[in-house]
Amino acid sequence: MAQDGAASQQITLEANHELRMEVAWGKQVHLQLLKGQAEVFGTSLDLGERVSIRGQKVAVYSWQGCLLELEGDPDVMYTSDETPMAHYLNIHDVLDARRQEALKSKGQGPRTFVVGPTDVGKSSLCKILLNYAVRAGWAPTFADMDIGQGSITLPGCIAATPLEAPIDVEDGLPTDAPLVYYTGTPSPSDNPTLYRHFVERLAHVLELRAQSDAQVRASGLFVNSMGWITDLGYELLKHTVQSLKCGVVLVVGDERLYSQLSADMKKSDPTIQVLKLPRSGGVVVRSRELRQEARKVRVEEYFYGNRKELSPASQTAKFEDLQVYRVGGGPRAPSSALPIGATSVADPLKLSRILNPHELLYTLLAVSHAPQPELLLSVNAAGFIYVQDVDVAKGTITYLAPCAGPLPGSLLLAGSFKTYLD
Ligand code: ADP
Repeated sequence: MAQDGAASQQITLEANHELRMEVAWGKQVHLQLLKGQAEVFGTSLDLGERVSIRGQKVAVYSWQGCLLELEGDPDVMYTSDETPMAHYLNIHDVLDARRQEALKSKGQGPRTFVVGPTDVGKSSLCKILLNYAVRAGWAPTFADMDIGQGSITLPGCIAATPLEAPIDVEDGLPTDAPLVYYTGTPSPSDNPTLYRHFVERLAHVLELRAQSDAQVRASGLFVNSMGWITDLGYELLKHTVQSLKCGVVLVVGDERLYSQLSADMKKSDPTIQVLKLPRSGGVVVRSRELRQEARKVRVEEYFYGNRKELSPASQTAKFEDLQVYRVGGGPRAPSSALPIGATSVADPLKLSRILNPHELLYTLLAVSHAPQPELLLSVNAAGFIYVQDVDVAKGTITYLAPCAGPLPGSLLLAGSFKTYLD
């Protein structure tokens, strides 16, 4: 019997096998490495360390074989030896050699773009390759362009974070120094111009960071993409590759996308290497509802912590004391100002101040570092608040902030999607 009375079992994992587990939100299991070597998406487990798996779908992989103790009851659990891990390790070796070269020549290490349809394991592959790079002594940067999930901070965000230690199995990515831009929507189709704009901003800042630190520059970058790979989605992917100057594109689990991207990259920049990788059979396909639920869980975790260890502060402010802006929907350009035949459209980057707080109920607002409204789209977000209540008669809003005290800025950027926290 385990520490807290939950049933426990020992599991032997042969070399090159993985234990796949699904643990529903609100449930947890504990895992302990008793013998051998094991890792979760590239993060090594320490011998004897008891790790909690909460609301996650994970693979515990062993290159050499191991003995595990498991406490609790996962919703799904099985082992498999059909994994793409050998391919992933090969890619790591190739990237690692490039980092060594970059360090010697004081050059740029590999910038790697991971692309594919939804639910093929893109985020998991990024985690594995990031962790392998960190374990080899590098300090890679992770950039997440998948605004549908927003793994670094919140849905709706394009963000990047430097990594100096392996990703914590329980706590996920580090949250202390992310560079975040809030598009205000989980779908780039709502305002593709804004999406492109923020990708370019992020690329610019990352370039400056890389220029000022040789180790960061040589360590390179991993970019996770969204799963929208057709039509405008495809165009946005190509724009991201160009903006972030990615030299390696890893296409996971989609032959057609691979050949389309290979052909296009050959035309635009033949030095970009496009490689295909198989999808792992362990990747769990999520329904639309589950994705929505995952977004809500991310918002909850931002404010409450993933173990409910944070105590966010609920505060009330006079709406007129906050300057909240929305992007897009600006006035149409006069047709006389447009080339012949072009149609006038609303300016997608136009900022307008929100005067009616009611439309903000149950939405997230990004608190900006910007010193003036004109810079709202040039400067990254300092943090987020969630609008819990609006009193139009009193002119107040009540919001949840990660901590008590004044906000780090008085300029806020509104989002359009609502999240209903319990
Ligand atoms: P994508 O980024 O392509 O949408 P993810 O990497 O997020 O895909 O994978 C989808 C889900 O499958 C995630 O919950 C992830 O933790 C899970 N998953 C990925 N690989 C495995 C695996 N080998 N075994 C079990 N679960 C996995």
